[in-house]
Amino acid sequence: MNSIEKLVNEHVLKMTPYSSARDDFKGQADIYLDANESYDDYLKTNRYPDPESRKVRKELEKVLSLPYEKTALGNGSDEVIDLLLRIFCKPGSDKILIMRPTYGAYKVFAAFSNIEVLDAPLKNDFSVDMKMCRKMLDEYKPKLTFICSPNNPAGTVVPLETIKEIASYNKGITVVDEAYGEFASNFKSAVSLIDENERIVVMKTLSKAWALAGARIGILIANPYIISLFVKVKPPYNVSLANQKLALETLKNEKRIKEDIASVVAMRSDLEDFCSSLPYTKEVIRTQANFILLRVEDADSLYRYLMEKSIIVRNRDKEPLLKGVLRITVGNKEENEALKEALLAYK
Ligand SMILES: *Cc1c(COP(=O)(O)O)cnc(C)c1O
Repeated sequence: MNSIEKLVNEHVLKMTPYSSARDDFKGQADIYLDANESYDDYLKTNRYPDPESRKVRKELEKVLSLPYEKTALGNGSDEVIDLLLRIFCKPGSDKILIMRPTYGAYKVFAAFSNIEVLDAPLKNDFSVDMKMCRKMLDEYKPKLTFICSPNNPAGTVVPLETIKEIASYNKGITVVDEAYGEFASNFKSAVSLIDENERIVVMKTLSKAWALAGARIGILIANPYIISLFVKVKPPYNVSLANQKLALETLKNEKRIKEDIASVVAMRSDLEDFCSSLPYTKEVIRTQANFILLRVEDADSLYRYLMEKSIIVRNRDKEPLLKGVLRITVGNKEENEALKEALLAYK
């Protein structure tokens, strides 16, 4: 038994996965009469998609250097989170650990599966509270520990050393969510740690930097055994044919995306400077992601004001450590100018 197997839900180990027509026969043939599909290809989508998203994963290996045998795709990272919970956590008894403020989905999906959520709050400077983390890991032995880096909504990167330390201490799985990694300067991905610690898994997404939020492509990068468990429990056709095509297309436009990222980073810094100079600004929390964090006295009031100007931002006022903070996504040039104009006119 490997060290991962002990952490897996027994019913997941025992279950027989669904075997689709595309799984049963993997070769090449001329005539496919095995999946009850329509013969009419008039929208180029009459066939079921590849359950393993092989072409996309080959492209991910080429473009992002993510080893093919260590990747699997989800219908957005949201599905990856949900399936990791289902693989490892027994409803009603197992726990997960998060570090608030952090991405809200971890908690929501855990609740949905009746899994208790423990919190080791970040310190005032948004760094990991290692003492607290260790205490939680010791006392409650959570099955999954979620580290969001760069963090949404705090915008901070968790150093690889810290991730390593948590993961070596943690007997459960350490999940590193790198949805915003592309926007961080000198970002070091935790993918490099998977080989030395098989209990580390990484999530990436094409939703942010790769401009594909509408297509729902989440990427799990993990030790091949964990990948095999993920493939076992995932719905067989979880990534649609249309979305696999879009993923391939965006991955072939790396040059454009790199330019987008550089431009977002430049505009983020410009917006941060601009906001720092506003008379009512209490603080601009500099981020490593594609949003800015603006702290004011009355976040609700500024939120409503911007809404009246038809500009919608995210009010993070109720999150721990983020009292008075609005999270504002970096938009295109015109949108950012409109935002600046509105902010300048606010009294
Ligand atoms: C936006 C975001 C994601 C992406 O989720 P998808 O389901 O892939 O769109 C993942 N993690 C964090 C922290 C995010 O903010």
